[in-house]
Amino acid sequence: MAQAPQLPIVQLAQPRIVVLGAGFAGLQVVRSLRHVKAEILLVDRHSYHTFVPLLYQVATAILPPQAIAYPIIEALRGHKNTQFLVTEIREINFTAQQVDTENGSIPYDYLVIATGSQSEFFQVPGAQDYGFPLRNLQHALRFHQHFLQTIERIQREANPQPLEIAIVGGGATGVELAGSLAELGRRPPPWLGGVRVQIYLIQGGASLLPDFAPRLRQYTLKRLQQLGVTVLLNHRVVQVSETRLELMNGCVIETSTVLWAAGVRAALPLMSPPAQTVGRKKLPVDPTLQWQGAENVYVIGDSAWLKQTRGLAPEALQQGRKVAENLQRQLQGKAPKPFHYFNKGRMAIIEAKSAIAEIGPIKLTGWFPWLLWLIIHWFYLPGAWPRGVVLVSWWQTYGRGRRFLSQRLFFHPRD
Ligand SMILES: Cc1cc2nc3c(=O)[nH]c(=O)nc-3n(C[C@H](O)[C@H](O)[C@H](O)COP(=O)(O)OP(=O)(O)OC[C@H]3O[C@@H](n4cnc5c(N)ncnc54)[C@H](O)[C@@H]3O)c2cc1C
Repeated sequence: MAQAPQLPIVQLAQPRIVVLGAGFAGLQVVRSLRHVKAEILLVDRHSYHTFVPLLYQVATAILPPQAIAYPIIEALRGHKNTQFLVTEIREINFTAQQVDTENGSIPYDYLVIATGSQSEFFQVPGAQDYGFPLRNLQHALRFHQHFLQTIERIQREANPQPLEIAIVGGGATGVELAGSLAELGRRPPPWLGGVRVQIYLIQGGASLLPDFAPRLRQYTLKRLQQLGVTVLLNHRVVQVSETRLELMNGCVIETSTVLWAAGVRAALPLMSPPAQTVGRKKLPVDPTLQWQGAENVYVIGDSAWLKQTRGLAPEALQQGRKVAENLQRQLQGKAPKPFHYFNKGRMAIIEAKSAIAEIGPIKLTGWFPWLLWLIIHWFYLPGAWPRGVVLVSWWQTYGRGRRFLSQRLFFHPRD
């Protein structure tokens, strides 16, 4: 087989740190290494950083897509030691110390794997083909387009039926999607044209949001039911097709709109020699975040398996900072230090003016954690432009009951 060409990367005669993935973890590593004497190369398939926690708001037309997609070259403005490559990572060759990409291969001295996660369909027949996952911006836009087109189709019917939406997975994403879509029923916007939206939220376990305290779970269940969401607990999906979803107990929901928020697994490129993975196909790491057995390879964020981490943005950010610190220590001939996660708490939004939060022993429900959720997410947005867009959009949605429909500018096949 012909060898992949080496990419023409400027040689600085300094150690080369290659960071795979410009998500929360990867971008944080690069930002924290800004003043370090090393040649840093960040690689991602997208030219923008996605603010994943707000994906559901793009899918449900609260936010326009540009609010959560921040150009990486903007994020790296003034970083003299960093280059950014937009390309698909294909394989990591640990023996040759190089990363093979769609556009050639990149040798490394130090490697940081931060390629995040992808949806897990648990081999449910049809789930991958007919379900709408929500892991990236394309997914959010695809669902959004399908949602609007389905409404338009129903409006043209002589005898319009309600639009049935099945959301599979009762974690934070499933709850947020259910609340946001069900809210449309409470304040129906004119573009719904009288179409009724019926939401089913299907959870395999005995409660929604199993990571939260029982009181917060009950509050969430009650709020969703008040919004008209049909919550099905202890129900497993066994098949999804173009027009229906089938449950283990034989019940069927007639729908072409199935949102899949049921599980995730690490999104790792091929590895040579193949690496052993653990829970959710993640790479196990040492407390220092080094990949087990390799001094110069770190794994962080949703790709890494470390005790007591759950796959959240703050974990990815804190791990990114720790890896940057450890890389600097290694460059100075010092030993890396272990990572300790500082848990600031967890939150989930249900609908306008209703959320839950668990901050140590403090448990909050209602409008205050909702406001806190908005402020925290707004604060963590990666730049002034997205912050401005998000602020205006939230004022429109939460203040005036409007949704952002510019995604309606779809291209006609004849264009
Ligand atoms: C819908 C949703 C809602 C969430 N809500 C919250 C929340 O409210 N609060 C919270 O704390 N956490 C939330 N999370 C979890 C949080 O987003 C993740 O824990 C966090 O994004 C992990 O960061 P990461 O850097 O590991 O991965 P990511 O941020 O996913 O970044 C991975 C990057 O790697 C790139 N990549 C992957 N494979 C390749 C390849 N082969 N070639 C090139 N590039 C590649 C991707 O393009 C991406 O940019 C949510 C997740 C989802 C999906």
